[in-house]
Amino acid sequence: MRTPSYPAPRRGASAPAWRRTLLLPAAALVLLVGACTPESVMSPTPSVDVGIQTSSVAVAAPPVRGLQALVPSNPYLNAPPPSASPAPYSQRAAMPTEEVECRRQLARLGVTYQDLPAIDEGGACRIDWPIKVSGLPSGVGLKPAATLNCQMALAFASWTKNELVPSIRWRYFTGVRTIRQGSSYSCRRIAGTVTPSEHSKGNALDVMSIHLASGREIDVRKPGFFAFREKKLLANVRKDGCDYFTTVLGPGYNRDHADHFHFDLKNRRNGYVACR
Ligand SMILES: [Zn+2]
Repeated sequence: MRTPSYPAPRRGASAPAWRRTLLLPAAALVLLVGACTPESVMSPTPSVDVGIQTSSVAVAAPPVRGLQALVPSNPYLNAPPPSASPAPYSQRAAMPTEEVECRRQLARLGVTYQDLPAIDEGGACRIDWPIKVSGLPSGVGLKPAATLNCQMALAFASWTKNELVPSIRWRYFTGVRTIRQGSSYSCRRIAGTVTPSEHSKGNALDVMSIHLASGREIDVRKPGFFAFREKKLLANVRKDGCDYFTTVLGPGYNRDHADHFHFDLKNRRNGYVACR
């Protein structure tokens, strides 16, 4: 690669020293922007997570203007710090084979999705190759669109097609129109702990309600959810879900999961699968 030749710094000034002085505040600003805020920590109402992903990505713009004003002629400051904003696709490294293969499988299943720029909000909060999923197999919509890593999207799409849709048809004699999700990517910790949530890796999805083609709404949040037929469906969702996910938590597990299903692909070293 050709190294661009920039004008040397002023005589007498030690180059590493003045660069350090200028770059330190830049690094501090980047850290501030990327840090998890207390509000992003999981709250008992998961619906508040909706929308966090896009807004937090948007604010990661580099603080270039103020620094350029200090030394306007310095070419080093014309480019944003590398970690502050994701590079456009043309400048990113080639997509890893498993990501390409995952997208091929999504396409085969009929999933509607869109590639997003890399997400990196500091700590565990990152997805290298995120996608935004708005449509699932069998014509099932996902609302609002979910920001996930590709493997999680693929697991959820397969589960929808092979388990949920047949299970609904068997019990309600109708199809599934929309799955309403409460949280996908979200920079936060597991409630009451310092452990990063699988949501902070785009590795988890919360389901709040399922809208059927007949017009019926299966709302996990409603008290009537524990009616006989829903109870059977609930048991089914948990049991079948464990073939696709490593964690399936549903209503009744604990207070944080009283009103939604939580699915994730947490990678446990011992291969333990949590289905409760
Ligand atoms: Zn969750």
